[in-house]
Amino acid sequence: MAGAPVDVRVAGGVIERVGPGLPAVPGLEEIDGAGGIALPGLVDAHMHLDKTFWGLPWRAHEAGPTVRDRIDNERRLRRELSLAPDVQAEALARQAVSRGTLHIRSHVDVDTEIGLRNLEGVLAARQRLRDVVSIQVVAFPQSGVVTRPGTAELLDRAVRDGAELIGGIDPAGIDRDPAGQLDLVFDIAGRYGAGVDIHLHDGGELGAIQIRMIAERTRALGLAGRVSVSHAFCLAMVDEAEQGQLVELLVASGIAIMTTAPGDRPMPPFRRLRAAGVRVASGSDGVRDAWTPFGTADMLERAMLLAYRSGFRTDELLHATLDAVTRGGAEVLGLEGYGLGAGDRANLVIAPGESLGELIAMRPPRALVVSGGRVVARGGHCVI
Ligand SMILES: [Zn+2]
Repeated sequence: MAGAPVDVRVAGGVIERVGPGLPAVPGLEEIDGAGGIALPGLVDAHMHLDKTFWGLPWRAHEAGPTVRDRIDNERRLRRELSLAPDVQAEALARQAVSRGTLHIRSHVDVDTEIGLRNLEGVLAARQRLRDVVSIQVVAFPQSGVVTRPGTAELLDRAVRDGAELIGGIDPAGIDRDPAGQLDLVFDIAGRYGAGVDIHLHDGGELGAIQIRMIAERTRALGLAGRVSVSHAFCLAMVDEAEQGQLVELLVASGIAIMTTAPGDRPMPPFRRLRAAGVRVASGSDGVRDAWTPFGTADMLERAMLLAYRSGFRTDELLHATLDAVTRGGAEVLGLEGYGLGAGDRANLVIAPGESLGELIAMRPPRALVVSGGRVVARGGHCVI
């Protein structure tokens, strides 16, 4: 049930006090939350802001079923459509803000065909929206690293230009050289103190071996707490005993897991990971792009999908999914001042409902989204 109503007093973009019946302060603007539920700004820990077709007419999905089919199809579409990455990134980030997301980690394609064009676009959008939403950028070698000479140099440059993390993709499945790709990626990360976030779709034992290789390099470079594995389907494809070993390894190495609650692929063991102490985040991944027709950049919807995919029904388990799109995501992104306590950044979203469980079940339009103490969205629409 809902707790007693409280007031939240904000000064200088920071929460100063939270409590019932705070006295009005002359000159301080009052905003009515209408008795809704306040959450800290939602965290989308895995997007692709540069890829989206958001704002364009509907485009039927036409890629084949494999990762390689989708990469090739996207490269073709990218040439045909030649969209402006800054415009697309800003359009999708604004949509995310309208749904209460105030922190995004976006992978951004870097390859030998487009160079750093998409990176420059996302960095420009990030700059324009810097007072509204925080955006972490992962330089993402969508087309491979080892098999595309010149990519490692571009990744290196991307980090110097403003990407906080280096990405990777199926070091075995795409590059057929897991040690080669991981060494290149971790070498750059180690050199600049950047984080690492690897897309790992490779399944079963092939994926599990790569988790071990990522852990080895994370520990060798002292990058605990700075490395994530996105998707990690393999964690759900090995036997119980090996899954336990891998979970322990993730804990010991300080590696986080990001899952989107994939519809037709194995999902990492959400409860087991969290119970063991692995940081678990979630994200939209692609939103209405060459990879998928789906997505609305709504992290309450993502929490519902996590619950739906996991067979969760109780409030306690629904709360766990909400945690993955709030506090858990904030931990993975390494956000400071995150929360609803005094001294935290005044980033919050207010939605009508009686309980947190109901919020996930209903995903009501966000009544208010407040960033740094300023209303940035109202009634499900950006107002900035
Ligand atoms: Zn992705």
